[in-house]
Amino acid sequence: MNKEELEKNLSQKLDSEDIEHKSKAGIVPATKIEGLKQGQSYKKADVISQLQIELCETNKGLLGLAVELEQSEEKYSSILKNAAETIFTFTDEGIIETTNPAASVLFGYEERELLGLNINAIIPKFNQLVPELDLEENISHSMDDAAIYGIHKKGDAFPIEFTLGRPFFASKRQWLVIIRDITERKRAEEDLRLMAKIFHGSTDAIVIADIRGRIIDANEAFTTITGYEKDMILGKHPISLISEKHNDHFHFELRYTLLKTGAWCGEVWTKRKDGEIYPIWLSIYSVKDENNVTTHFVGIFSDITARKESENKLKQLAHYDSLTGLANRTQFIERLKWSIDIAKRDGKKTALMFLDLDRFKLINDTLGHQAGDLLLIEVAQRLTKSVREVDTVSRLAGDEFTIILNSIKSPEDAGFVAKKILDALAVSVLLEGREIFISTSIGIAIYPSDGLDVNHLVKNADTAMYHAKERGRNNFQFFSNKMNQKVQNELEMETNLRQALKNNEFTLNYQPQFDLNSQQMIGLEVLLRWKHPILGFISPALFIPHAEKSDLIITIGEWVLRTACERSMAWQAEGLKPVRISVNLSGMQLKQHNLIDKITQILCETKLPPELLELELTEGVLMDNAEMTINTLNKLKEMGIRLSIDDFGTGYSSLSYLKRFPIDTLKIDQSFVKDIVTDNDDNAIASTIIAMAHNLRLKVIAEGVETKEQLDILYEKKCDEVQGYYFSRPLIEADFCKLLANLKN
Ligand code: C2E
Ligand code: CA
Ligand code: CA
Repeated sequence: MNKEELEKNLSQKLDSEDIEHKSKAGIVPATKIEGLKQGQSYKKADVISQLQIELCETNKGLLGLAVELEQSEEKYSSILKNAAETIFTFTDEGIIETTNPAASVLFGYEERELLGLNINAIIPKFNQLVPELDLEENISHSMDDAAIYGIHKKGDAFPIEFTLGRPFFASKRQWLVIIRDITERKRAEEDLRLMAKIFHGSTDAIVIADIRGRIIDANEAFTTITGYEKDMILGKHPISLISEKHNDHFHFELRYTLLKTGAWCGEVWTKRKDGEIYPIWLSIYSVKDENNVTTHFVGIFSDITARKESENKLKQLAHYDSLTGLANRTQFIERLKWSIDIAKRDGKKTALMFLDLDRFKLINDTLGHQAGDLLLIEVAQRLTKSVREVDTVSRLAGDEFTIILNSIKSPEDAGFVAKKILDALAVSVLLEGREIFISTSIGIAIYPSDGLDVNHLVKNADTAMYHAKERGRNNFQFFSNKMNQKVQNELEMETNLRQALKNNEFTLNYQPQFDLNSQQMIGLEVLLRWKHPILGFISPALFIPHAEKSDLIITIGEWVLRTACERSMAWQAEGLKPVRISVNLSGMQLKQHNLIDKITQILCETKLPPELLELELTEGVLMDNAEMTINTLNKLKEMGIRLSIDDFGTGYSSLSYLKRFPIDTLKIDQSFVKDIVTDNDDNAIASTIIAMAHNLRLKVIAEGVETKEQLDILYEKKCDEVQGYYFSRPLIEADFCKLLANLKN
């Protein structure tokens, strides 16, 4: 008998009120009592005894039922106790009547707190859900809705799923609800939804492959990027998409890293459906199950063509010279470092060449910057053609180039290349219809002998380049330690010269000049002297070349001119006879753009008559930039200043220029005078100079005359003036003034 049948039986048999009533009347309808025939009337005693029998049996049945009931209740309470789900029974009003330990865990209430609590308090609006259910049929109903949630005692809400029913329980229908917390499931579902969204919505291509490496899924971006429809690549191996650009080593490394670390990422060249090779940034991950066994591989990639292009452009800008396309300074330094490392590793040598074009500024100034740029491009191409592909040609600035010769065996290799470069540049360049000749001075420093790092090599190659310039340009020089010593000396010299200017260590000497016919003093040459506090007098032949390397010569030259003019005026003020003063002018001074203004100013301030001033310019200085010089000389001449060419015969004057220079005097260099008595050549040169000068209506003065013999020969040759130890050494002011005082008016 099941529980329901049992309850039904019991209610029929124990209609105790009815039995009591009929018994009192003495008539009991036979239909109600078993064992008595229907429709027949019996005696009360019979009925009672029959009832007693039945009652006894019923009691027995009841006892059995009670035991059964007790057993089933125990069963139910055990089920409730051990159920993983939360189970409540509650009344029509929602009052909880039965609960279980799982409910306490889920909602955070103790059992006694739950009993009597309205279910709406822990499952908000639960009662509103109930009418939706057809409960006449006594069915269970499962609901899973985002809107249904339980509230923990602490106030936290969590999603639930429940089954609701109306079973008979303890002889009456009750509300029974079984609740499950679905937080985890919801989260998993949410994750899945999110994943799907990412997978399909991603602009990065995503491919999933199984453990054998066969593609099992790919997203829409994959098709967009590669051009392959999903169906076309399912079952294929992703490697088939990688370009042949990558070798076996690449594939091995990819697999090895992926297996070892579970991930790999890097730049990969791949092939589009249309065959185009393009770069992607690829990340591959292995997906593992709970036992840490790889089940899938996921590849995510993006097309980096555009990024690479702009990267390359930036790289080009950052590392290359925009005019010539050669490496720039940044790239040069990087390559030199690299070259040194390789040479160190392989026990080889690296040569660093420093090149500076000769007289490039002149071309730039006369032909314009555009032509200058074209010339630089042409030079860059010739340099590149003169070296191997592994070597680096760079342009550092202006007309400065460098060449790194990697892994050379001996310095001679560098000498060979340097010669090749000089030859390559010797071929003239046609610029705007004009034939231009360009040359370069090259300095070479070798790793490791001339420097172990970038800084030393650069410094020494630069020093060697300056040396090449000093050696007359259009040549190459290897660095030597002697050069270093020279640079060191020069640096010290510059500091000392500045100090000398500040401390008034300069003075002037005056050397008289004589007319050869009358033997009368007609002028003087102003000669600079430096009285060093420790070293004593230092010859201008030693320090003037140093001063010419910096702007110091300008300041010094100005001081000489001003002082000489002032002294001459002071002597005249003392009543001494005015004589011509010759002042040496350096090449740097002549190039000074405001030279004319400066001289005008000095003449104005000192009030020296310009015709008393003569400027001595060396032959080399005049020819260095002949066209521009003519201009300046003309202006000086217009001012009334006399001009003379110093050291004449040592340079390479062109006669045509000589005619165009507004010159008054040629000064025969003392080297010819020195041996004029013994050396026929020198004698002939002196004769030629004098004849030529007179032809051009110029005066001639011979310097360095030390003997009577020299004087006699010069007299014979009709030289106009002389200067030298034979008459007088350069004198200090006081001594010179004595000479001047003797001069007859
Ligand atoms: P320089 O212009 O050719 O000057 C003549 C040099 O020959 C002077 O040397 C002078 O002392 C020297 N000398 C004169 N007579 C004789 C002689 O009979 N025998 C010999 N052996 N030498 C004689 P100093 O004064 O040492 O000057 C050397 C050079 O320094 C000058 O050569 C000139 O180029 C330069 N210099 C001197 N003073 C100045 C200056 O104020 N400015 C510039 N820019 N250069 C100067
Ligand atoms: Ca001179
Ligand atoms: Ca001279």
